[in-house]
Amino acid sequence: MEYNHILRQSLGFFPTPLIELTRLSKELAGPKIFMKRDDNTGLALGGNKTRKLEFIIGDALAKGADTIMTAGAAQSNHCRQTAAAAASLGLECHLVLGGEEPEQVSGNLLLDKIFGCHIHWAGVNRKGEDIPQIVEQLTKAGKNVYVVPYGGSSELGALAFVEAFKELELQRESINETFTHIVFASSSGGTQAGLMLGNKIFNSPYQIVGINIDKGETDKVPFDQYTVALANSTAKLINTDYKFSESDLMLNSDYVGEGYGVVGKLENEAIEMMAQTEGILLDPVYTGRAMGGLIDMIRTGQIKKTDRVLFWHTGGAPALFAYSSDLDVTQKR
Ligand SMILES: *Cc1c(COP(=O)(O)O)cnc(C)c1O
Repeated sequence: MEYNHILRQSLGFFPTPLIELTRLSKELAGPKIFMKRDDNTGLALGGNKTRKLEFIIGDALAKGADTIMTAGAAQSNHCRQTAAAAASLGLECHLVLGGEEPEQVSGNLLLDKIFGCHIHWAGVNRKGEDIPQIVEQLTKAGKNVYVVPYGGSSELGALAFVEAFKELELQRESINETFTHIVFASSSGGTQAGLMLGNKIFNSPYQIVGINIDKGETDKVPFDQYTVALANSTAKLINTDYKFSESDLMLNSDYVGEGYGVVGKLENEAIEMMAQTEGILLDPVYTGRAMGGLIDMIRTGQIKKTDRVLFWHTGGAPALFAYSSDLDVTQKR
């Protein structure tokens, strides 16, 4: 494994904390549950994209970019962290967001605006389909544009999660614990590809379980194929010859519900349970769904009391404010 030659731009605070969720375990009469707090990466309210952006923005700077462009949903955490990274380095930032400009600007979109981004509304094209034509215009105007891939899920983004895996392993050893599962929200594949590869490189026995949060109806390449291919190309990037096939990918699609960003009972219960047992905020789109999935897997015995689970908190809480009308906050536990 060799990647010291790959340039990085420091953007966050690492390592993020590793904590144990004793009150949640008790509430579920379940296994030991630990949490990796990437909601605390430190860049503009945090999240897993900060790790990816350290490598990706490092590459952008090495290539002399003066303008950063990326795409996502209106409440994209990836776009908000990209906006903050660009602002911190004096780079112009363009975001191509799905949907139309809403009447009320809140959550991540509010933050994008505070960071001074140029926002291009793309209607149904929430995965960056409109990027090439906007790049062409900006290039004609003399800008050196660097496009950050959707969700930061390129080889560089996945590499950040090989590094994150190493960070976790050092912390785990220092508290003398073991894990059986790593569970997290998976949507553009970089987190999962990186953790899968890290698991191989460090010869760890964990089940790397991505909870799929998106039905992916509009994906040109199916998500599972994309993620396996990304794990393989990332292995190549760092000169290892690990090779994954689709049977190596553990992607649980049981909890996609009504689709991306549609909040239901599962997410509501998980958000409130986490808040009211541990004082920790999840988000409505990603971590609420992934934790809802974990809770169900514990209740249905797919994860046993004797297991030891690490839930990777990937951030996202700023979106809570934009989903207030979809959240049922009337219930006390
Ligand atoms: C982007 C994101 C994810 C998914 O990570 P991928 O690497 O894109 O699969 C999970 N949780 C939150 C809060 C995110 O913003």
